[in-house]
Amino acid sequence: MDFLEKYKYHKDNPEEFGIDLKKFKKLNEELDNSHISALLSTSIRVSKDLIPSVAKAIDQVFKRIKIENNFNFFVTPNSLQANASCSLMSSASRPDIILTSKLVELFSEEELQFVIGHEIAHYVYQHGLYPNPNNAEENNFKLNILNLSRSAEISADRIGFLACNSLDHALRANLKLASGLGEKHIKFKFSSYLDQLRELEDLGNNSGELWSTHPNFLIRMQALIWFSMTKEYHEFFDTKKKGTYTLEEIDRKIENSIKKITGNELERSNKEIYERALLWGSLNIYLSDKKFSKQEQGIFAERFGKKAEKAISFLKFSNKDVLEKKVNDSFVEAANLLRSYKTDLSGELKKLASETDGDKTKKQNILSRMLEILGSKD
Ligand SMILES: [Zn+2]
Repeated sequence: MDFLEKYKYHKDNPEEFGIDLKKFKKLNEELDNSHISALLSTSIRVSKDLIPSVAKAIDQVFKRIKIENNFNFFVTPNSLQANASCSLMSSASRPDIILTSKLVELFSEEELQFVIGHEIAHYVYQHGLYPNPNNAEENNFKLNILNLSRSAEISADRIGFLACNSLDHALRANLKLASGLGEKHIKFKFSSYLDQLRELEDLGNNSGELWSTHPNFLIRMQALIWFSMTKEYHEFFDTKKKGTYTLEEIDRKIENSIKKITGNELERSNKEIYERALLWGSLNIYLSDKKFSKQEQGIFAERFGKKAEKAISFLKFSNKDVLEKKVNDSFVEAANLLRSYKTDLSGELKKLASETDGDKTKKQNILSRMLEILGSKD
C-alpha cells in the first residue's frame, strides 16, 4: 500500500500534528470484526451474486490501484443522500465501506469507481486517526485540524481518480456528489464550473470554506484537473506522456487557490501565536541574568517593533511572576501549533540563548523549561 503514499497532497501531513502512522500500524495487527454484525443486519453486503454492477466496479478499482481487497462493502438504504463512508479506519480492523442506495442509483459504474477509490484512500492513508475538529477547544488548533481534514479529501480524490482512470468520470462524480443531481438535469461543462471557482477566488475571505471539513467541489475539481496533468499521474498508467507539471508544482497551485478563497486567516492566526511565544520566550532568555542591556534592547526592538515597546513597558510595572505567567500562557498556546512552527520557534530561541550574555546553565534551564511546554525536544 505504501506506493500510494506519494500521491498524497502535501498538506495532508499528520506528522505536523505529532501523529506517527508507521508506529500505529505496528501496534495493531489483530483483526477485530465485532463491528460487522450491525451492518449485516441493516445493509446488503456487496457480492457478485447480489449486486453485480457494484461488485464489478469494486473489482476494477482493486485491479487499478493494485492493492489487496480486504474490505467489506455494503449498500445501505438511503434514498436522500448520494454518499459513501469508510468506517472503523484503524488498521486493527477490517474496514467497511458503505455506499448509500441513492449513490448506486445515481452513479455510473465508472463514477462509482471514483467514490470507492476515494473511500479506500481514507483507509490506506489512515485518515481516521486524524484529530477530530469537534474536540478542539482552541480556535487556531481547530483551524489547523480543519485544514488537515480538507487536505485529506484532496489526497483521497486522487486515489479515486486513479481508481476510475478517467478525468471525465472523476469530475462527473464530484458534480453529482455536490448537487445530488443525476444526468437528467446536470450539464457537464467543466469550464463553466471553473469560471465559478475564479469568481470565488476573486471574492476571497470565505470563512465558510475556512471552517469546513471538506474543500468545496470547485477546488476539488480543479485539483483533479491539475492532477491529470502531472508527470506522476502519467507514470502511474504508463501513458508515455510526460505531463505538464510535477505533483509538487500542482500542490503549490492548489494551496494558492485555497488561500485565495479562504484568505490569510489561518496563516495570520498561526503566526500570531508563534510571535507571541517568541516575544515572551526571548524576554525570558534576555532577563535570565536580570539585566537587559541597551544592545539587547536594540535587537529586541528591531525584531518585534511596537510589540517590543509594549512588552518592555508592561514589565516595568510588573514582577517576575507576571513574566513567568506570560511565558507559560504563550507556550501552552504554541504547543498546539504545527510541528514545523514549533521546530522554527525552538530554533530561534536556541539561537538567541547562544548569542546573549549571562550564565549558560541558567539560560539552558530556562530554555529547556520552555521547550518542554512546547513539547519539542532540545
Ligand atoms: Zn472523503
